[in-house]
Amino acid sequence: MTTPTPAQRQARVNRWITPRIRALSSYQVHDAAGLIKIDFMENPYSWPSAMVEEWLAVLRSVPLNRYPNASAAALKAGLRDKLRVPAEMALLLGNGSDELIQIICLALAGPGRMVLSPSPSFSMYKMIASYTGLGYVGVPLAEDFSLDMPAMRAAIERHQPAVVFLSYPNNPTGNVWDEHELCEIIEAAPGVVVVDEAYQAFADADFMPYLQRYDNLLILRTLSKLGLAGLRLGILIGAANWLDELNKVRLPLNVNVLTEASATFALQHYDVLLAQAAQICADRAVLLAGLQQLPGVTAYPSRANFILFRVATERADEVYEGLKTHGILIRNLSVPGTALAGCLRVTVGTPAENSAFLSAMARVL
Ligand SMILES: *Cc1c(COP(=O)(O)O)cnc(C)c1O
Repeated sequence: MTTPTPAQRQARVNRWITPRIRALSSYQVHDAAGLIKIDFMENPYSWPSAMVEEWLAVLRSVPLNRYPNASAAALKAGLRDKLRVPAEMALLLGNGSDELIQIICLALAGPGRMVLSPSPSFSMYKMIASYTGLGYVGVPLAEDFSLDMPAMRAAIERHQPAVVFLSYPNNPTGNVWDEHELCEIIEAAPGVVVVDEAYQAFADADFMPYLQRYDNLLILRTLSKLGLAGLRLGILIGAANWLDELNKVRLPLNVNVLTEASATFALQHYDVLLAQAAQICADRAVLLAGLQQLPGVTAYPSRANFILFRVATERADEVYEGLKTHGILIRNLSVPGTALAGCLRVTVGTPAENSAFLSAMARVL
């Protein structure tokens, strides 16, 4: 036996990994070592130290040798209470809401079936649709990032999507779409409409009250943007007849014991998480005003914990790299010739991080 050459190894991969998968690019996470990290919609705050001590005491008694409790009853009760889930609706938990998007796509995939979302929006909708075998249509937003309703109506009519994803507020544009237009989309859609409320805590808007009215509506939430990104807990809320079916493609015991215990604990201190979110909303206003004062910058008002802003298309990469040399990591979303040409996205950090960002911006520009 001779050792395979690199070319032989690659040839075997190319033969068996389908072109659909090979065409994808894996999700990019940038190394933030030594940088102020305001690129990824994380909450910059930790918990008060007394709360950390209490949490550690809870963890001490978690039985790591046991599989998770499949019903997660205490966690679900805490979520029902704090997220104000209507009593007749069911919950499905995921290892982050990304996993729930994948579960929805796996369960609804089939020949010729489509996922539809406005575009630009959260990149995972298209990515997960592609590798679960669904087609994807992105319907361009209007120039001010509002919904292009004639285009949405026409695309729904033409493609009859199995799933429509609506990020509310929208990532990466940060705005909240018109409530009546969203209702019109839910009414027009033949399949499931998932309103993804990852940023609900910063938005003061949600579709929970509409669950009873629409039999095709599901609501997606996450604890990630509330300071628990590392924990990975997503929550899908909707009628049991949908969730019972989706539950069949969920890997059993997908939520681990540390996540279950930690999230249950965090929900008992939900006021701390909400107070941090309120602080972030106040700091967002200061950050927006600071960005709007910079020459050559268009900053868009946001209902989430990040702000999208635009510079001249040919300067976007330079601004991104310049910030990095000043020790600041944000997200560069600029693709020339698209709706996001010249666009970058900054996450609201602590007041000190935000002002370090603004003064680095002033120098880089
Ligand atoms: C961050 C984000 C998610 C993913 O959240 P996780 O629960 O951390 O997987 C889902 N949807 C949108 C729109 C997001 O921005």
